[in-house]
Amino acid sequence: MKPATPSRSWVESAHEHPDFPLHNLPLGIFSQAGSVPRVGVAIGDCVLDMAEALARGLLQGLPEEVLESVSQGSLNAFFACAADARSAFRQRLLHMLGKDAPSRVEVRACLHQARHCDMHLPAKVGDYTDFYAGIEHATRVGKHLRPDAPLLPNYKYVPIGYHGRASTLRPSGVPVRRPKGQMRPSGQHEPIVGPTQKLDFELELGIWIGQGNPLGEAIPIGQAAEHVAGFCLLNDWSARDIQGWEYQPLGPFLSKSFMTTLSPWVVTAQALAPFRCAQAPRPPGDPQPLAYLWDDHDQATGALDIELEALLLTEHMRTRGLPAERLAVSNSRCMYWTVAQLVSHHSVNGCQLHSGDLFGSGTLSGPGADQCGSLLEITQGGSQPLLLASGETRQFLADGDEIILRGRCHANGIGSIGFGECRGRVLPAL
Ligand code: MN
Repeated sequence: MKPATPSRSWVESAHEHPDFPLHNLPLGIFSQAGSVPRVGVAIGDCVLDMAEALARGLLQGLPEEVLESVSQGSLNAFFACAADARSAFRQRLLHMLGKDAPSRVEVRACLHQARHCDMHLPAKVGDYTDFYAGIEHATRVGKHLRPDAPLLPNYKYVPIGYHGRASTLRPSGVPVRRPKGQMRPSGQHEPIVGPTQKLDFELELGIWIGQGNPLGEAIPIGQAAEHVAGFCLLNDWSARDIQGWEYQPLGPFLSKSFMTTLSPWVVTAQALAPFRCAQAPRPPGDPQPLAYLWDDHDQATGALDIELEALLLTEHMRTRGLPAERLAVSNSRCMYWTVAQLVSHHSVNGCQLHSGDLFGSGTLSGPGADQCGSLLEITQGGSQPLLLASGETRQFLADGDEIILRGRCHANGIGSIGFGECRGRVLPAL
């Protein structure tokens, strides 16, 4: 029989912590004052040091693959562990940190103040794929380009994606340098090269792949969810002028590859289980997905109810001590495809996924005007400048602007859990 799951932690700051209460327990890679990066778990305002927990014998009895994986400097091996082993690890953490824990003194010795920890990328990402599953975003962007036919005919059949750049993924807090590139200013015949004038953000969910698949073997839709280890927030920085000139016929290239920012904590699939919900039914007239993308259980439970938020803090606001201004609030339920459908589609041709690969969901905008997950949508391509409470206006991002993404889940009877922040400030072009 499983021990009862405690609902409260003895770690004081975890009580009603908006992001990291006891029932979240996200994993990340941290260091302190230049120490070797290692696995940690967020609890309240603290980080539980797994190397220290191992050294003190607090993880004794857990499967060998888990003990091996949490002693490393990245989460790739942990993501590759069997679901049972990852669940056993979570149960142990709940027990150690729950209010009835027998050995608090030992566990307390493994806690660090999060504000004294530096966070790193959680895994060594072999491949990063960005999808386009936010249908409201796809429709608004499409309308801008093709008012009569916003969505291309394949959109409701194929989960659209492109291969992104893994080498320029960075954790929250690393500034983004305004990129240079080739673009063709409107009304001109010839392109120029220079700093982007249309730097934008994209509010996305990041999806961490758990166990991979052998080359040539597709992941069936019914098993796809088991291949997802966890989630984070992802800002797909985009240079719209470079993108507009380069994207046909092969899709985005240098307009996206200069940097992508990730929130450093991995919220596990187990922690998100209470916040799963049914995928919204397809509107009448939309095609039934092909069989390899359809699973009744996935349709009943495969969507995620995560409230997503994007905020802007300008240099002006920062120097005057003004708060960041909310640009958008949206929800991951606006995905036209479930995460399992993305996994299944990615592997249908036999493409191999590895543990620690990363997917982006695509920009997750809602239908409302205050639910737009990019400035491209908010300002309608720059044609309707945004007036900020500080008196400033924006068409696209200015140097010194900082974008802050947040994500939070709420459910009746369970406190909220959150993702922490995904931040990045714009530096001037070199
Ligand atoms: Mn994107």
